[in-house]
Amino acid sequence: MQFNYIANASLPSSSGRTIAVLDPSDGQPYDDIQRSNASDIDHAVRAARQGLDAVWCKLSAAERGRLLMRLSLTITEHAQELAAIEQRDCGKPTKQARADAAALARYFEFYAGACDKLHGETLPYMDGYSVLTWREPHGVTGHVIPWNYPMQIFGRSVGGALAAGNVCVVKPAEDACLSLIRVAQLAAEVGFPAGVINIVTGYGHEVGDALAHHPGIDHISFTGSPAVGTLIQQVAAQRHCPVTLELGGKSPQIVFADADLDAAVPAIINAIVQNAGQTCSAGSRLLVDQAIYEPLLERLGQAFENLRVGPAAMDLDLGPLIRQQQQQRVWDFLSDAHVANIAMVAQGKVVDEAPETGFYQAPTLLRDVPVMHRLAQEEVFGPVLCAMSFRDEDQAVEMANATQFGLVAGVWTADGARQFRMARRLRCGQVFINNYGAGGGVELPFGGVKSSGHGREKGFEALYGFTTLKTVAIKHG
Ligand code: NAD
Repeated sequence: MQFNYIANASLPSSSGRTIAVLDPSDGQPYDDIQRSNASDIDHAVRAARQGLDAVWCKLSAAERGRLLMRLSLTITEHAQELAAIEQRDCGKPTKQARADAAALARYFEFYAGACDKLHGETLPYMDGYSVLTWREPHGVTGHVIPWNYPMQIFGRSVGGALAAGNVCVVKPAEDACLSLIRVAQLAAEVGFPAGVINIVTGYGHEVGDALAHHPGIDHISFTGSPAVGTLIQQVAAQRHCPVTLELGGKSPQIVFADADLDAAVPAIINAIVQNAGQTCSAGSRLLVDQAIYEPLLERLGQAFENLRVGPAAMDLDLGPLIRQQQQQRVWDFLSDAHVANIAMVAQGKVVDEAPETGFYQAPTLLRDVPVMHRLAQEEVFGPVLCAMSFRDEDQAVEMANATQFGLVAGVWTADGARQFRMARRLRCGQVFINNYGAGGGVELPFGGVKSSGHGREKGFEALYGFTTLKTVAIKHG
């Protein structure tokens, strides 16, 4: 049985109810989490406020940084344990779960070093005045986290908020939250004061909604679907609470005829099979210069056929999807493809050892997907890659920008001038040229435009979002 973690104590929900935790690799329950409600959120917000006022706001930035660094070190010491928890909870292959634990440690390392580098400015102004700006924390920040990368998203969101001097109330996803409960315990063990990191589990429409409504929450960081992002923003707007929204994507990989295909092919595959395609920045649309469309599809097709899907612990190319509804969602998209006569180039294989009760989906490469078909417009959130060809650069840009999303784009070309033109013309938060994701560096600001959200997390930039600027003008004659 897992408990909420509030004011450095493990507590049951006041509802007395729980939610079963399923292992996506076999679909079977193996643990329970608390099904919390509004009164648990209220308790957590009060504990957070007390932690802020009594201790956290009195620490120097350097002292905060040292605590974050201690947390980073203990996460590294417990990396195997945390990876094993996340692996079972999310169905992640071993190498992915370990990479996520390493990324979590790195976020806290990065933000530990950033705490005492964040400062305001002095501004030139009229004679007789001195004007300065202070970067102040919002206070109690709320963090709503999805199930696809719990540790990584906690690291970038909570790490940045703490570094900026906030205290946090975290609502992880009901489908995957066990690693975060453990991280909060580790934080207490290395000396985080009570109330600084609080974890309240439960359903989004209950406890997530209660967090968004709570007047004691001073800022909300939400990572999840565009639909829930809209709900959160509407609720927050009623009390003018600032929000950062990290929403979905339908990101294009754009391959020109002069691209280095030896570099592009593995990156294109990884960008759609990583985490079984359940990645906001998944490269789910493949736009290819018509001159190399057929040979590239043939090469990708062979690679797709060699991909293997199975239980997380087998550490294959892909693990299962998170839950049965997600599997059904992918099946619905593929059945739409069938109805629309969209041709399948190739599919990987689910291994015989995969239990029938697990939530598996073979990676699938589709071709000639019409630009406006829902497969090319909506987030599948599964390992489905939609290929289409373009005739020239203008058409590539038009197709790339023709969705409601604007999170990431990958461009593969050796032409330096085209690299810059494309980077300018693509409407999205980040453009990767001749790579995809740049190794996920925590230093790189990340976020979207259009329905992919607004605000930035990761990197130093996130600290501006987790603070509010106060201008102080002193008239001294
Ligand atoms: P989701 O929006 O259903 O859930 C995300 C979180 O919101 C969960 O913790 C959930 O419990 C909570 N929630 C649900 N309803 C709520 C409500 N009414 N009020 C408050 N909270 C509520 O999304 P999901 O299915 O968990 O995650 C997949 C989505 O997240 C995809 O669209 C994906 O692209 C997106 N995502 C985006 C990023 C990014 O950085 N842009 C990263 C990861 C995932």
